[in-house]
Amino acid sequence: MHISELVLDDFKSFGRKTRIPFYEDFTVITGPNGSGKSNIIDGVLFALGLARTRGIRAEKLTDLIYNPGHEDDDDRSGPREASVTVVLDNADGTLDRSQVVNAAGTEDVGDVDEIAVKRRVKETEDNYYSYYYLNGRSVNLSDIRDLLAQAGVTPEGYNVVMQGDVTEIINMSAGQRRTIIDEIAGVAEFDAKKEDAYEE
Ligand code: ATP
Ligand code: MG
Repeated sequence: MHISELVLDDFKSFGRKTRIPFYEDFTVITGPNGSGKSNIIDGVLFALGLARTRGIRAEKLTDLIYNPGHEDDDDRSGPREASVTVVLDNADGTLDRSQVVNAAGTEDVGDVDEIAVKRRVKETEDNYYSYYYLNGRSVNLSDIRDLLAQAGVTPEGYNVVMQGDVTEIINMSAGQRRTIIDEIAGVAEFDAKKEDAYEE
């Protein structure tokens, strides 16, 4: 399974609908400083709900909505909604139909050779809302997380290695490094689930 396309709509610096194709084995994104390369990675983290440990570079979710007057914080006249769709090529059957049906809670998921995970953030006057979709069906973050985990994509994993991650791992204490090993070994996932269960 691999990302075949990313669709950004009013997300960060992408003020109009932008489709970015990805090749199967290797894609390099180049461009001048500030042109939006890292924003593309932020888009992937945002849409797949992977931002828990690999931080998106934004203080609040609504900062992710395209703001034409970004340098000038008083200008709030931009659209108040952003979305990112990650299209996964699942032609190799990494996830089978029943797994997708299970996550979506309906048989009506279309052809699972392609899996589209979409997230939208909407800002109203006094609140904001976040929505997830799986092949067009409305789902919860936990449905997306559980599905992706079955394909080996987790927030705790190193599917995304951020700028500075490697240096950070080298410089950290033995105890902190142990936490990373727990994450990679999959122990941390159960710790987190346990914590979530206690909270509920
Ligand atoms: P570098 O090569 O320096 O790493 P980059 O290509 O990774 O640069 P990004 O960090 O992706 O660049 O993009 C930064 C740009 O995105 C900045 O110009 C910033 O103003 C813009 N930006 C961030 N959030 C928004 C937003 N909500 N609305 C409009 N523009 C935004
Ligand atoms: Mg960058």
